[in-house]
Amino acid sequence: MTSKDAVSHMSLALEEAKAAAERGEVPVGAVIVSADGKVLAAAGNRTRELQDPTAHAEILAIRAACSEVSDERLVGCSLYVTLEPCPMCAAAVSFARLKRLYYAASDPKGGGVEQGARVFNQPTCHHAPEIYPGIGEAEASFLLKDFFEQRRS
Ligand SMILES: [Zn+2]
Repeated sequence: MTSKDAVSHMSLALEEAKAAAERGEVPVGAVIVSADGKVLAAAGNRTRELQDPTAHAEILAIRAACSEVSDERLVGCSLYVTLEPCPMCAAAVSFARLKRLYYAASDPKGGGVEQGARVFNQPTCHHAPEIYPGIGEAEASFLLKDFFEQRRS
């Protein structure tokens, strides 16, 4: 996996985040790529639309990718997400046995990877992905900031 591929996969996740914002959802997007570089799933947040607090972009992408490969695990696959996963999604990444996690912006308020629960650092976590933060960070942060500013005005 070259970094050029990583940038292009994160761009796709950012497109999903923009589409989520246009639906009135918190702008977070996620993409899952197979070991051989095929995009298996792309999703954005749909918690409001589906009236489902678990319908985070990562969860929807994991469900779609598992369905695509007809497996409960995504061994060797990579997840690209525009915001640091929350504890729920981090746990799902572990359960799915995803090999790599790329995320754009850190989430000091709700993240569960670098802060808060630090799910992958717990002794009860039985699979931790390789973690690559920061690709697309500026654009992902801008989308979130813009979204919440517009909601306040
Ligand atoms: Zn989440």
